Amino acid sequence: MTQIFKIAIIGAGMAGLSAASALTQAGHNVVLFDKSRGSGGRMSTKRTESGDLDMGAQYFTARDNHFRNALQTWIANGWVTEWTPRLFIRNEGELVESPDDQQRYVGSPRMTSLSRGLLEGLELVGQTRIQSLEHNDDNSWGLKDETGTVHGPFDRVVVATPAPQAVPLLAASGHLEQATAQVEMQPGWTLALAFAEPLDTAVEACFVRVGALDWISRNSSKPGRQGLDTWVLQSNPRWAMGNLDTDKAEVSRQLLAEFADALSINIPVPVYQHAHRWLYARSEGACNWGALAAPEKGLYVCGDWCLGGRLENAWLSGQQAAQTLMERK
Ligand SMILES: Cc1cc2nc3c(=O)[nH]c(=O)nc-3n(C[C@H](O)[C@H](O)[C@H](O)COP(=O)(O)OP(=O)(O)OC[C@H]3O[C@@H](n4cnc5c(N)ncnc54)[C@H](O)[C@@H]3O)c2cc1C
Repeated sequence: MTQIFKIAIIGAGMAGLSAASALTQAGHNVVLFDKSRGSGGRMSTKRTESGDLDMGAQYFTARDNHFRNALQTWIANGWVTEWTPRLFIRNEGELVESPDDQQRYVGSPRMTSLSRGLLEGLELVGQTRIQSLEHNDDNSWGLKDETGTVHGPFDRVVVATPAPQAVPLLAASGHLEQATAQVEMQPGWTLALAFAEPLDTAVEACFVRVGALDWISRNSSKPGRQGLDTWVLQSNPRWAMGNLDTDKAEVSRQLLAEFADALSINIPVPVYQHAHRWLYARSEGACNWGALAAPEKGLYVCGDWCLGGRLENAWLSGQQAAQTLMERK
């Protein structure tokens, strides 16, 4: 008979949700913990009166066959739709339409529709930052949060946070702690904007190769979005690194100027603007680890950084952690 485990997953982003779905489907009892109120992590949406703005992942691609299969279910469930923006590239001195024929998908009507969908039927303990893991003599685990409350006991723990946030949770396993501590993640600034009148441009998305920005999207061009003409600008990591402590008003001012330069248009005063700093936006390089494990202790680690910083990789890493856990009874 298959043994049923009580499993804690720390982090309810794509990797944690992916592991949780696989483990729940196999009959295990899973509880997700997240420091935020809801699920989604870096696949986040800011809900405003001007419209809902995707602040983190802008879209995702699907290359792996297992992921493509899952995607078909999400599309059938109405959580995800293809997005076919008019895509441009801003190089030094020119703004040209991109010939790329990459298929891009977005949560619909907002990015977090996907995480909401994946969370259905799962148990999430939100607004709970796990500070340390206690490994008990009987090989069970307790999760200590920042108020000192210990949650558990659990038979198995899956840590599904960005690498720097995972390190303090992995003290019970020297090799997991050391491997994770090597992973560097880069910062980023996101600026969300809404305008009373639509901007006079054909651009719906743009990769930027000069200046502070590396991505511009007309958020309101994504399927199902309602409200004003909304835009999301993302800085490149180098600029973010040099502006980690710059105040939000100054970040907004500089990125708005870069936006105008990139599209070569006048940008009116936005009716809404919101700047968000990501300390750990994307991982630098790819590890190809899939997921990490200390099976003798019942401790597993996943996240986009185990494979390379994309939403698809976060999902694949979560699947891999679940698979490894289930292979070791
Ligand atoms: C600005 C930006 C743009 C991006 N654009 C794209 C894109 O266009 N396409 C694409 O494919 N990918 C994109 N990405 C990457 C994509 O968002 C990530 O690969 C993916 O969302 C990572 O999922 P994850 O589950 O590994 O981590 P996360 O989404 O970071 O989830 C980790 C969760 O752990 C929680 N957590 C952390 N520490 C603790 C703790 N101690 N206790 C409890 N909870 C904790 C966090 O609150 C979070 O919810 C982008 C990322 C950013 C930031």
